[in-house]
Amino acid sequence: MSAIDQLPPLRDVIANHGLIARKSLGQNFLLDLNLTAKIARVAGDLRACDVLEIGPGPGGLTRGLLSEGARRVLAIEKDRRCIPALEEISATYPDRLEVIEGDALEIDPLTHLTPPIRVAANLPYNVGTELLVRWLTPPTWPPFWQSLTLMFQKEVAERIVAKPGSKAYGRLAILASWRADARIAVNLPPGAFTPPPKVSSAVVHLTALERPRFDADAKVLERVVAAAFNQRRKMLRASLKGITSDIEDRLIASGIKPTDRAEQIPLEGFCALAREVAKK
Ligand code: SAM
Repeated sequence: MSAIDQLPPLRDVIANHGLIARKSLGQNFLLDLNLTAKIARVAGDLRACDVLEIGPGPGGLTRGLLSEGARRVLAIEKDRRCIPALEEISATYPDRLEVIEGDALEIDPLTHLTPPIRVAANLPYNVGTELLVRWLTPPTWPPFWQSLTLMFQKEVAERIVAKPGSKAYGRLAILASWRADARIAVNLPPGAFTPPPKVSSAVVHLTALERPRFDADAKVLERVVAAAFNQRRKMLRASLKGITSDIEDRLIASGIKPTDRAEQIPLEGFCALAREVAKK
């Protein structure tokens, strides 16, 4: 599949539509279509998939997704100024790109999509993290998505894939590894973006597991993990005191030393503790 389409270069698109980057919308654009095609390929074989893209901007990643063969792309963009540029892409790929103007945090895209669905986005980091947590904590599992291919600030990407014992290990790593495989697929320096952000970025690819790696009630697990990492330097018997008055007994019954700290506990341990806490 050709990585480059017949549309004008993205620099021209930006100039023609007056898309001066707005900081308030976290606008750091990817203008290299070889790079956006590479990111699209991280999302896997898209020919039989609908792709939900959040924050398409001038459409660099959108063009990558379409030229790499996505069956359909639904793109949700908050900045009205980008819509005419996206409509030009839509005209080049008839019936394969639907654009919705709006805030991805408020729109339910599911009525516009047909499974199987993959998600791809280069988003402002705060919106990206909020959406990631929502996508990892739906009311039922498996979720609506098969995979998520998302750009993050490198430090956030490292928190998503972190292993126990590391400083980056916490709530995001546990949420991600409980029900998904997560890996960093591409690292990008600030210069890959226009304008360049202050920090490096990375594309994280998450694939949904059919079922959680270990049994646990999602709400109890989230509560325990949030409390444990809120005071990550404290021993668990102290940080989890508010969960139940007999937390020391529950920790011991789960095979965890009450004097351990959150970052030493692997996913399996937190799931065992969540099952133990749920018994009461
Ligand atoms: N995907 C484009 C690219 O790679 O060049 C643009 C990336 S830029 C980092 C983030 C994009 O997300 C901007 O176009 C911005 O307007 C859009 N955006 C910001 N907040 C949004 C939200 N809540 N919902 C939808 N789009 C949003």
